[in-house]
Amino acid sequence: MLPRTRFLTDGSLEQLARRLRFLGYDVATHRGARLGELFAAAWREDRAVLTMSARQPPKSAPVTVLRVPREDLEAAVRAVVAAHLPATAPWSRCPACNVALQARSAFEARGELPGRLTRPGVPLSWCPDCGRWFWPGSHVARMHAWFERVIGRPPDAVDQP
Ligand SMILES: [Zn+2]
Repeated sequence: MLPRTRFLTDGSLEQLARRLRFLGYDVATHRGARLGELFAAAWREDRAVLTMSARQPPKSAPVTVLRVPREDLEAAVRAVVAAHLPATAPWSRCPACNVALQARSAFEARGELPGRLTRPGVPLSWCPDCGRWFWPGSHVARMHAWFERVIGRPPDAVDQP
């Protein structure tokens, strides 16, 4: 059984962090943090560190470190999925903010979204942090296809390696 891991990274891996959040991985970002600061924060918050650096964590903060290749987003996603399980279900957290999305009714979305999306039966969710709305649209379909190609199975199956 793979560990269910929460991650911490800095702004340099934001594109990877966003992809992983689509899959349900809890990836916190400390923008501008130095690697030593990341190690210390990850130790305090019980997270593993995602980094491109080869540096080892100090003895004072012996955190798990997952090294990912530079400028190879697909290989980086594969490396994470191969060794760690996501904290929550796919499509359940905001890809930008990492917070849990909240289910919203069509009624609550009136005036915020086009009418075609605010009909009964369209599952809507909303990020309490940035206020963005999410629904099963073309973006999700494209992401779904990207993950199927990169990790060889649909996002909903990352929990069953
Ligand atoms: Zn958000």
